[in-house]
Amino acid sequence: MDRLHRVVIIGSGFGGLFAAKRLKKAPVEVTVIDRTGYHLFQPLLYQVATGILSQGVIAPPIREVLMHQKNANVLLGEVTTIDVEAKTVTHHIGDLESVTPYDSLIVSAGAGQSYFGNDQFEEFAPGLKSIDDAMEMRSRIYNAFEIAEVIETKPEIDPWMTFVVVGAGATGVEMAGQIRELADRSLRTEYRRIDPTQARVILADGGDQVLAAFGENLGAKSKAALEKQGIEVRLGTMVTDMDAQSVELTDRDGNTERIDSRVKFWAAGVAASPLARQLGDQTGAEVDRSGRVATLPDLTLPGHEEIFVVGDMASLNNYPGVAQVAMQGGKYAASQIKRRLQGDLDAPAFKYFDKGSMATISRFKAVTKVGKVELTGFIAWLAWLFIHIMYLVGFQKRITTLGHWAVAFVGRSRAERTTTAYQAVGTEDLVRQKRISDTELLYEPRMGTPHRKADSSSAEDESN
Ligand SMILES: Cc1cc2nc3c(=O)[nH]c(=O)nc-3n(C[C@H](O)[C@H](O)[C@H](O)COP(=O)(O)OP(=O)(O)OC[C@H]3O[C@@H](n4cnc5c(N)ncnc54)[C@H](O)[C@@H]3O)c2cc1C
Repeated sequence: MDRLHRVVIIGSGFGGLFAAKRLKKAPVEVTVIDRTGYHLFQPLLYQVATGILSQGVIAPPIREVLMHQKNANVLLGEVTTIDVEAKTVTHHIGDLESVTPYDSLIVSAGAGQSYFGNDQFEEFAPGLKSIDDAMEMRSRIYNAFEIAEVIETKPEIDPWMTFVVVGAGATGVEMAGQIRELADRSLRTEYRRIDPTQARVILADGGDQVLAAFGENLGAKSKAALEKQGIEVRLGTMVTDMDAQSVELTDRDGNTERIDSRVKFWAAGVAASPLARQLGDQTGAEVDRSGRVATLPDLTLPGHEEIFVVGDMASLNNYPGVAQVAMQGGKYAASQIKRRLQGDLDAPAFKYFDKGSMATISRFKAVTKVGKVELTGFIAWLAWLFIHIMYLVGFQKRITTLGHWAVAFVGRSRAERTTTAYQAVGTEDLVRQKRISDTELLYEPRMGTPHRKADSSSAEDESN
C-alpha cells in the first residue's frame, strides 16, 4: 500500500493550527512541531501580564486541541534546521535531536521582538511575545508596587511607580491602559503607605500617532482617550538609552530627557523567525529588513512548490502581521495541498480578506475599524469582546474568560495576581546567560524538572 502524503507544520500558532485543522479529513499524515506545546492566543497576552487572565486560558495544549484529529501528530521541540533539498526538518528537545521527513511543508513560526539594533535594551524592557514574557511583566508590575510600599522617601519611590511602555501600537496602548486601570481601580485602596493612583504611565512612540494602523481619525481619538485616562503620551519620541534605573527619551529636535523608571516594557517592532532567513538562503527568496521571506502569490517559495510560508514570517503584498493573515494563509496552504492531491494543479493566488482591526483603550472602551466603518467607545468594546471570545480555543476557556472579565471590568479585582520570585528576574537572567532556549530550559531530560542547564552541576553536587 502507498504511504500517506506527509505534511509537516512548523508552529502551532494561528497559521499552523488553522492549517492542521483544515487537513482534518484529508488523506495525509500531519505532524505539527512547536517549541512550546501550546496554541498561544497572543492578542490577550497583555491581560495575562496585568493579572486579568491566567496563562492556561489563552494557551491550550496543542496536543489536546488536536486530540480528536486522528491524522495529526504533535511533536514538542525547537526546529533548528530545514533542509529543502533533503526535504527534512530537524528539531531538538533537550539533548535529543529528531529528523522528520516531509512531502509538503507549512512553515508558520511567527515573529519575535525587535529592538532595532539595541538588543541591550531587552534586559531592562522585556517584550510581550510569549507566556514567559507575560508572567515576567506581571511580576515586574506587581512587585514594583510592593517595593514602593517599603521604601521610605518619595524620590526613591517614584522610579518604582513610573511605568514606561515603548511603542504605541495595539499592544503598547493596551498595556499602558491596563497598568493605568490597575493603579487607579484594582490597587487603589490596597496599600497603606503609597497611593497607587499616583503612579505615572508613559507611552512613548517614534511616530506621529498612536495606533498608526487604524488611521488618523481613530489615532487622534485614542490618544485623547488615553490622555483623559491619565497616560502621558509622548509621540515623535525615540528611546535612545536605557538601564535598570532609567530610560532616555529623545524628541525630533534632539532634546533628551532622562526619566527615572524601574519598570519598562517594549512593544515596538517585530523580527521574523530566523527560519525565514534559512529558507531565503536555500531557495533564493528575498528576505526583508524585518527578516520576513518573500513568497510567491501562492505562498510557496521559488522552485519549491511543496514549501508554504504563512503568517508573520512571510511577506506578500504588504499584508500586515495580524492573526487573520496567518489563519487565512494556513487554511489556504492546507487547501492547496488537498487540491493538488486530487490532481488539481491550477493554484489560485492567496488573497487576504481584511475583516478589520480592533484594540482596547481601557475598560468598556475600544476602537474598531472594519473597512471604512470606524467605531469607538462602548460599542467598539462590545465588538472586541465578541470577536475575542469567538476566537478563543475551547468552550470551557471562553466561559472562564467571561468570568474573569466580569471580575476585572464590572468589579475592581483581578483574578490572576500570583507572581513568583523566579519570574521577576526572568529576562534579565536569560539575557545574561546568552539566551538559553525555552526548550532547553524546561525539558533538560536528565533532571526532568524545570531548572537551567547551567545549574545542573550544582544541583548534582547537592544531591550527592
Ligand atoms: C502581544 C500581541 C498582541 C497581538 N494582538 C493582535 C490583535 O489584537 N489582532 C491581531 O490580528 N493580531 C494580533 N497580534 C499578532 C498575531 O498574534 C500574529 O500576527 C499571529 O500570531 C501570527 O501567527 P503565526 O502563525 O504567523 O505566528 P504565531 O502565532 O506567533 O505562531 C508561531 C508558532 O511557532 C512556534 N515556533 C517559533 N519558532 C519555532 C521553532 N524554531 N521551532 C518550533 N516552533 C517554533 C512558536 O512557539 C509559535 O507557537 C498580536 C501579537 C502580539 C505579540
